[in-house]
Parts: sequence; structure tokens; C-alpha cells
Amino acid sequence: MHQDIEEILLSEEQLQEKIADLGKQITRDYAGDHLLLLGTLKGAVPFIADLARAIELPLELDYMAVASYGNSTQSSGIVRIIKDLEGPIDQKHVLIIEDIIDSGLTLHYLIDLLKRRNPLSLKVCSLLNKERLRIKDVPIDYYGFTIPDKFVVGYGLDYAQLYRNLPYIGILKPSVYSEEAT
Ligand code: 5GP
Repeated sequence: MHQDIEEILLSEEQLQEKIADLGKQITRDYAGDHLLLLGTLKGAVPFIADLARAIELPLELDYMAVASYGNSTQSSGIVRIIKDLEGPIDQKHVLIIEDIIDSGLTLHYLIDLLKRRNPLSLKVCSLLNKERLRIKDVPIDYYGFTIPDKFVVGYGLDYAQLYRNLPYIGILKPSVYSEEAT
């Protein structure tokens, strides 16, 4: 285990097993539809890569990058688009692929923006669902795991751009971010 990790919350095996299940569920639900998986950069990259291969349907992949202003462990809800989609979505069933829903602020903004582009349908799949009171109530159609309100890293999730390559989800030692704040 990495020295900055306090505890492994979800092992590589647990993640892969759940993603296989989600893939089967999405394959069933979207049978016959033209599906666009919309990944949010950068955190959802490992998840969308594994999930896409677990879905047995023809599908497209596209990505959006949004930056949420805030401090290093909390978002503020003020969101800026860094990278937009490559084309229109009005003929597509869009499934947003997120790494984690915390306050709900980022996703709320994204849903609002995408709805105005009139997709055939718009749903959300998040690997992690943080157990806490949302600032914005957002619909989560598919999710992998509910986790406690702790700051986690790994499998795409970062702290200061590090730890994204860990194959598991772990709780970061609070000393790592409190040391930097002082
Ligand atoms: P929200 O806007 O729902 O509060 O936060 C969404 C974004 O905040 C996520 O896409 C992620 O980038 C970041 N985030 C929220 N909680 C965590 C966490 O526990 N660990 C990491 N690494 N990022 C988080």
C-alpha cells in the first residue's frame, strides 16, 4: 500500500467486479439505442475505460473537462468548461460518467448545460457516491459504491494531480493535505 494512504476502501477486485455488473445493467437498459458515454476529465478516465469495455453495445466516447473552483478538497459550484464535446448531442442518448459525486455542484451544472442541448436522454453513472448532505440534489441513475464522507484518491481520483494511477480507492492520510495547507 502507498505510504500516504490510510486505508484501502475499495480493492481493485471489488472495483472490477462492480464495473462488470454496471456494464451488464447498462447493456440491458440501452439495448437498441445509440449510446454516448460522456466522461469527465480527468478523474473518470480509468472508470470510463473499464466500463466501456464491460458494455456490450455499439457506443461512442467523448469527454468534457470542467474545472470547479474551490480549495483542494472542496468544490465551490462555480464551474468553467475547459474542454467541450466534439459535436452535437441532440440525436444521442447521453450517459454522463463521473468518478465521484460529493456536493453535487459540478454535476448539477453539467446536467443543466447538457439539457439545453436537447439529448434524446440524459442519465448519470458515477463510480462513487459520497454519503453526505448534497448542496445540490442530483439524480444518479447508476452508481458503484456509496462511501463515507472522507477524502479519497486512486483509480482516477487525485490530490494535487497525484495518486490517479493507484489501482484501488484509498483514504488519503489527512496529514498529507493538512501539511500542505500550513
Ligand atoms: P462535487 O461538485 O460533487 O462536490 O465534486 C465533484 C468533484 O470533486 C469530483 O469530480 C472530484 O473531482 C472532486 N472530489 C469530490 N470528492 C472527492 C474526493 O473524495 N477525492 C477526490 N480526489 N476528489 C473529490
